[in-house]
Amino acid sequence: MIFRQLFEQTSSTYTYLLGCERTREAVLIDPVIETVERDLALLSELSLSLKYTVETHIHADHVTGAAYLRERMGSKAAVPERSNAQHADVALREGDPIAIGDLELEPLYTPGHTDDHHCYLIQGVDGPRLFTGDALMIDGCGRTDFQNGDAATLYRSVHQKIFTLPDDTLVYPGHDYQQRRVSSVGQEKARNPRLGGGKTLDEFVAIMNALNLPRPKKIDIAVPANRECGDVQSV
Ligand code: FE
Repeated sequence: MIFRQLFEQTSSTYTYLLGCERTREAVLIDPVIETVERDLALLSELSLSLKYTVETHIHADHVTGAAYLRERMGSKAAVPERSNAQHADVALREGDPIAIGDLELEPLYTPGHTDDHHCYLIQGVDGPRLFTGDALMIDGCGRTDFQNGDAATLYRSVHQKIFTLPDDTLVYPGHDYQQRRVSSVGQEKARNPRLGGGKTLDEFVAIMNALNLPRPKKIDIAVPANRECGDVQSV
């Protein structure tokens, strides 16, 4: 498997490139509009053709690169069915994996940060990897105070869908604000200060209710744009 973890600085977003060595088909998870040219250069350098862009959810902090990549590469914009995105090419849902050559990406429905959020699991030769978006981050998690977010729902998603995976499953988050790149299910279960170490649902809800975070700066632009798969001309 070809794998790259890419970073967009303004929104501290990780984009993931996964490619099949045999067919040279690739997928980008959570591409960002500002870094489309970087992604195109990397695809060309690695001789990969982009089959899909895949969203973990409708983002509030950045605009997806899906529409531009589709225009340039002919890729299909795959978005969770529950996002109700306009002009999406593929509706993703749990139980319905997508194939990229020999690779298979398995959606896991993990609401709580938003009501459409999915993580994506891939079984690599070196073990499973989970792309957790904003459901579970390294020593943290996404906020739960907008876009139908709900702390108790997120707690259940993480405990029932993520913490039940093998401990050696690598956890690749959608963001990190401290230059950390990867964790594992075992590590987050043991020491995530919000969700791990035996924290109860009530303790988690209290932590999330006390965060008092500012409104995301880009939410009024990003959410409508992402509902159009990042086609900013249609917004
Ligand atoms: Fe988010």
